[in-house]
Amino acid sequence: MIHTRQREVILEVLQEAGRPLTRDEILRFGRRQIDRLGSATVDRAIREMTADFYIIGVEFPGQPRRYELPAGAEHPHFICRKCERVFDLPVKMQLPVIKAPEGFEIGGGEIIYSGHCPDCR
Ligand SMILES: [Zn+2]
Repeated sequence: MIHTRQREVILEVLQEAGRPLTRDEILRFGRRQIDRLGSATVDRAIREMTADFYIIGVEFPGQPRRYELPAGAEHPHFICRKCERVFDLPVKMQLPVIKAPEGFEIGGGEIIYSGHCPDCR
């Protein structure tokens, strides 16, 4: 079990960012709070916290894996085509239920929008 302080920092960093972060972003932002935060420690903490559902891994096609806090409600994501950051869109939305084609088992889905974020417009 990773030291509590490191887990707290990861949660704080995600809370503060308010958007899904890559492992590198978590490490970079986390080091603002703990100078000597090691990358192996962060990797281990992320692994443990994902397993315990304290954080959720999100994957988008062609993008590095990102992590976010469990959301109260289903929400779409937004990828900025310029800076490639991923944002949560604070709108209520439900994934349409689809019938899986023969031979497929659907385990989940994502609604992803893209365009330009406020910084890049
Ligand atoms: Zn952007």
